[in-house]
Amino acid sequence: MNVPFLDLKAQYLEIKDELDAAYARVMDSGWYILGKEVEAFEAEFASYCQVKHCIGVGNGLDALQLILRASGIGTGDEVIVPTNTYIATWLAVTYSGAKPVPVEPDEHTNTIDSSCIESAITARTKAIMPVHLYGQPADMDSINEIAVHYGLKVFEDAAQAHGATYKGQRTGGLGDAAGFSFYPGKNLGAYGDGGAVTTNDDVLAEKIRMLGNYGSRIKYHNNVKGFNSRLDEMQAALLRVKLRKLDEWNERRKLVATHYLDQLKDEPGMLLPVVPSWAEPVWHVFVIQSSHRNELQKHLAEAGVGTMLHYPIPPHLQDAYAESGYRAGSFPLAENMSQNVLSLPMGPHLEKRQLQLVVTMLQEVSLGRRC
Ligand SMILES: *Cc1c(COP(=O)(O)O)cnc(C)c1O
Repeated sequence: MNVPFLDLKAQYLEIKDELDAAYARVMDSGWYILGKEVEAFEAEFASYCQVKHCIGVGNGLDALQLILRASGIGTGDEVIVPTNTYIATWLAVTYSGAKPVPVEPDEHTNTIDSSCIESAITARTKAIMPVHLYGQPADMDSINEIAVHYGLKVFEDAAQAHGATYKGQRTGGLGDAAGFSFYPGKNLGAYGDGGAVTTNDDVLAEKIRMLGNYGSRIKYHNNVKGFNSRLDEMQAALLRVKLRKLDEWNERRKLVATHYLDQLKDEPGMLLPVVPSWAEPVWHVFVIQSSHRNELQKHLAEAGVGTMLHYPIPPHLQDAYAESGYRAGSFPLAENMSQNVLSLPMGPHLEKRQLQLVVTMLQEVSLGRRC
């Protein structure tokens, strides 16, 4: 028995008829960029996220970068980001011209430690960009309170958290704007690249729409030097099908997480995800931490169980950020996570017997260590 880390083919097969119909509809329409499908998806996803506006864009990184640019953030500005995140969060800030200012995570929730944000604020700080890491909302009330006090914007990196709620409210509407990714492996994944911005701000929404479409409101009238970053009709049509499945599939992910949490709770030396009272996570990934991470990963691989590391190298230690002058020891919590994290198979199509194999294999390693 093989246990894939994530089974995208199984997702396709469950909704094949609807996806195939959507594909045929778009092909048949003869219209492939900025049309009815994108318009409909934007309305449906805005409603799902309980916000006024959704703007489809090319990918999650663009969503974040366009938010920053449309907000007038650029050279000389600073944006607070978590130390432990996918590098896209940092790159969005860098591409805008601003400087990412890293803040370490809370050791229990793994999202940005709101009690450490104030000490990172300077006269140049313009925004805070929390990441709902692994599908779990960050501590948004505390973050918003700090932002109001210092006159900062709050932009959610919601790329891993489609459908997650914070005190009952969906991600995407918990700050001034949010960036989503529809990369195939995300909870709401397209069949190619895609992304979206959600916001309740009418002016910002209009600016982002213009910036992502060559800086143009009216065809061939270019108000600013914009970008080409648009969600296409095909991805929008396929995403509309998958959006209808999102809640059910998130619910199935939750069953997988509950099973792991229950079965692994007594494992010695294993840190399990902690869900704070404010959060209803959507379990984009299920991440355990252990100082024997490599041994666990090897043993699982030998049994045909796929795992991943989110993430093996934190952004500040990537060659891409060598010029920033950070070194090993600069952010010990993120560095420690990069050594210890292990993402177990997760997704709506995992079967009980597959989960049991994962658990048994993990238990074998700790039994072996005891003898
Ligand atoms: C996936 C991801 C992104 C970027 O999304 P793309 O669509 O791949 O550009 C940004 N931030 C986080 C936290 C992500 O996981």
